Formats: sequence, structure tokens, C-alpha cells
Amino acid sequence: MPDTPLPVVPHHEIVIVGAGFSGLGTAIALARAGFDDVLLVDDAAGPGGTWHWNTYPGVAVDIPSFSYQFSFAQRSTWSRSYAPGRELRAYAEQIVDEYGLAPRLRFGTRVHSASFDGAAARWTITTSTGEITARWLIHAGGPLSQPKLPDIDGIDSFKGETMHTSRWDHDVTTAGKRVGIIGTGATAVQVIPEIAAGTEQLTVFQRTPIWCLPKPDFPLGSVGRAGLAAIPGVRQAARLASQAFVEATFPVLAHFHKWIPGTDVLEVAARNYIRAQVSDPVTRDKLTPTYALGCKRPSFHNSYLATFNRANVALETTSIEAITPTGIRTTDGTEHLLDVLILATGFKVTDRDALPTYRLTAADGTDLAEHWEAGRFHSYQGVATAGFPNFFTVFGPYGYNGSSFFTLVENSAAHIVRVLDEARRRDATTAEVTSTAQESYMESILARRPLQVFSNPSCAGANSYYFTQQGDVPFRASTTLEAAWQSRRFPLTAYAFAG
Ligand code: NAP
Repeated sequence: MPDTPLPVVPHHEIVIVGAGFSGLGTAIALARAGFDDVLLVDDAAGPGGTWHWNTYPGVAVDIPSFSYQFSFAQRSTWSRSYAPGRELRAYAEQIVDEYGLAPRLRFGTRVHSASFDGAAARWTITTSTGEITARWLIHAGGPLSQPKLPDIDGIDSFKGETMHTSRWDHDVTTAGKRVGIIGTGATAVQVIPEIAAGTEQLTVFQRTPIWCLPKPDFPLGSVGRAGLAAIPGVRQAARLASQAFVEATFPVLAHFHKWIPGTDVLEVAARNYIRAQVSDPVTRDKLTPTYALGCKRPSFHNSYLATFNRANVALETTSIEAITPTGIRTTDGTEHLLDVLILATGFKVTDRDALPTYRLTAADGTDLAEHWEAGRFHSYQGVATAGFPNFFTVFGPYGYNGSSFFTLVENSAAHIVRVLDEARRRDATTAEVTSTAQESYMESILARRPLQVFSNPSCAGANSYYFTQQGDVPFRASTTLEAAWQSRRFPLTAYAFAG
């Protein structure tokens, strides 16, 4: 009896890994283009990605809500100009309902590996809930999804309650307790002011201070919301103003710093802000970064700095020696006794097991993470990588220019749909970006490197997750308009279609 041949037709035409806004936005773009056989898998129990997982006190957006939403699904219902996290989580759920995505979602499914079979033009994806095959694979995992625990001795020895901010345990109370928090990134900046007043004592363990700027956060109120909903043009005007604000404060200042040194001006404003907010001069100095604003993602909060004026809040800048059963010992021998330890220590962003979060291999066995590690991050518009046919990333290297994440998703989705449309038109079963197109894109992006704020030598002391171990900052050095145009108008000759 001959062996039964393996089925050549994949289970699904397209599998998307991740049901955060990247996955949802891409699925919607695909559906609009007539691609209906799409499965989204996610290890969470619901949609929303980062907004599903991050429920810590104070969680909110720090890009204005008028921008931090899909252009095609704008809301007039945000409670504030910077909406709280629960509203983003609800927004993801509404998007699923409005666009009929529920039947395409498979939650509680963690991808372990994906390997491409060149002859069958098909991905085999092993997951915690079984094997799936697909013609096309889209990685829509966000860069801030894998919690990073600090590599500190004794981390497992603490006898009190420990939690990473992205896995907040709402059964744990911080009220009336001695609480320690490690980290002063954007997450800690939101948590600290929110919990400080209720704690008996809050000790903030800071390794590198963060530049913190105020944000124009205000309630929209019922009148504001009604205006947004009912008055023609108001929502569009609010979005336009918001997009311009975001563009002017991130992509332009970061990528064209040499021409427009606006971060230097912001740095002066941020120093003045620290002076105005923090009363103790020693604490003020400790909270003032020594690296240029822009090397590391700045934070935006209206009460973070002032929280350090509280009598029950201490800023500890002596290095941590160990986590002990009773708290934290710093290198000066001080034992900080704690009941609750909060790890606001961020995420694996450019680590080898972070992008993607599973082993992905091309038909010749090349492992994508190894490939990127050996040859440094590279891609074509952050979406495709030569040598990896039928595979796309929504948030790949050199794809994101730093404006609203939703803009990135819409750009990447447009790019992917364009390639798949062309493959369908040609009846092709494979599409792969050419090395020539990729090299020319990378050259054009890297040529702008000297203009970027990241080339400032003081960035070396920033401990910024923007930088890879090799010292690269894999952002797309471009304006948003340029990125949007390129994503929709790239030459189709950039891809080789076959099959
Ligand atoms: P993060 O920016 O990576 O900050 C992690 C913090 O933990 C840093 O202060 C880091 O110190 C510290 N840390 C890590 N390991 C440590 C160790 N072994 N010992 C001492 N300190 C240690 O992470 P995050 O605050 O979670 O923010 C990540 C990103 O999420 C943000 O940049 C932002 O893009 C996003 N975010 C967005 C929002 C929003 O939009 N609402 C809110 C929160 C977060 P070093 O700086 O010295 O490494």
C-alpha cells in the first residue's frame, strides 16, 4: 500500500498570529479585499493584544485617542483625550463584533513553530491546540507582548506577592502595604501615581531615569462627545490636529533631528518641568536623565514627578544586589522590607525569542531569528524578508516610524493585501520579496541614520530598548505620509511570484 499523500490544500489560505490591533486590522483589510479564509490565533482569552493583557492601575494610552484608533473606525465615545486602557480593550471587542471577526478567531492558542514547505507552498504551524497549515502566514505579534523579568539574584525567593505589570493580579492589594516597584519606564510612570497614595510605603527602584513630559489629557465630557459625534467635520478636525501633533513630536523630531532639533527644545522644557514638579533638589537630580531626550521613549504624565514629593514615596537609585525572601537588598547593604513587589521591567523587544515568539523556518531550514541575528535586522518596509516567502510581519524591522501604532497597522496591511491581490491575480502560490528590493529599501532607510536623534552619543547611557544588541535602531526613518505612500505604491516587481 502506498503511503497516503499529505494533503496539499492547506487548512486555511491565511493564518494570522496575534489578535491584537495588528491582527484585527490586517484581517479587516484582507476581508475587504475578498480574502475570507483567514484564521487568527492568539494565546490570550480575548482580542486586544497589549490592551487585553495590560490592566495595571493607571493604564491609559499616551498617544491622543483621536489618533490611537483605526482611521475607518473612529470613535466619538472616548471618555478622555487619552483614553484609559479598558476602553481600548472594549474597542477591540467592538471591532470584532462590527467586522464579524469572531468566527475567525481562535483564542488560547500559542504558536510553537512555523515551517515552510517550498514544494507544497504551505506553512505548517504547530500550536498548543494542534497543527494548522496555511498558504500565507502573517505575524501580527506586537513588540511589547513578552514580559521581561529582571535578571536579579533571588527573584524567585520573595515570600510576598510579586507581579509583572502586564500580568497584574487584581486580587493583590497594594493599599496599606509596603510596596516596591522595579523600573521607571512608561508603565511604571502610569502605575506609580495611581497606587502611591494608598500604600503605606512605596519604594521606586530606578536604574535609569526617564524623561517625563506633561500631556494634554482632559475629559471629553458628554458635550465633547456629542460634538464629536454630531457636528460635521469635528471628528475629522480633531484627528487631523492629533495626527499633526503626533507627527511633529515623534517621527519628525526623531528621524530628522539633525535638521529639526526639536528634542533639544523639549529637553529644556522637560528640565523646567522637573524643577517645577519636584521639591527636593536631590530627588530632582536623580529623576533627571543624563541622556538626550529621544534616545529612549519619553513618558507623558501629569502627576508622575510630583508623586515623589509624597512622604510615603522613596526613590532608590542604589543598584539592586538581590531580591530576598523579605524584600530587596541594595548594594549598600540596605534591606528594603516589602509586602508586594511589582516588576515594571518591560518586555523582550528585539531579543531573539521576541520577534517572532516561535521558531520560524524557511523551506531550506533557515531560522528567521538566527538569520536576523547573523545579518542584523532587515526587511522590506517592515513587512517581508527575502528568503522567507509567503511570510509577512505587520510590525517587522524598519517598518514602524513611531507615529500611531494604528497607522503602522493600516500601512502594513495595505502592503500585504497588495501582494496577496497580485498573487491571486497571477494565480501564484508563492510570493517572495527580492533581495534587490530589500537591499535598496534598507539602503534608503539606513542612509538617514545620521539624521536621527539616536545617533547622539549620550544614547549609550540610556539603556534604551530601541537599540538592538548590535546598536541598531530598527525604526523606519520616514515621515508618516512617505510610509503610507510607499506601502501602497511600491513596485510589484519588488516581489517574485511563482507557482
Ligand atoms: P520599559 O520602558 O522597558 O521599562 C522597563 C524599566 O524596568 C526600565 O526603567 C528599566 O531600567 C527597568 N529594569 C528592567 N530590568 C531591570 C533590572 N534588572 N534592574 C533594574 N531595573 C530594571 O518597559 P515599560 O515601562 O513596560 O514600557 C515599555 C513600552 O510600552 C513603552 O516604552 C511604551 O512604548 C509602551 N507603553 C505604552 C503605554 C501607553 O501608551 N499607554 C504605557 C505603558 C507602556 P533601564 O531603563 O535601566 O533599563
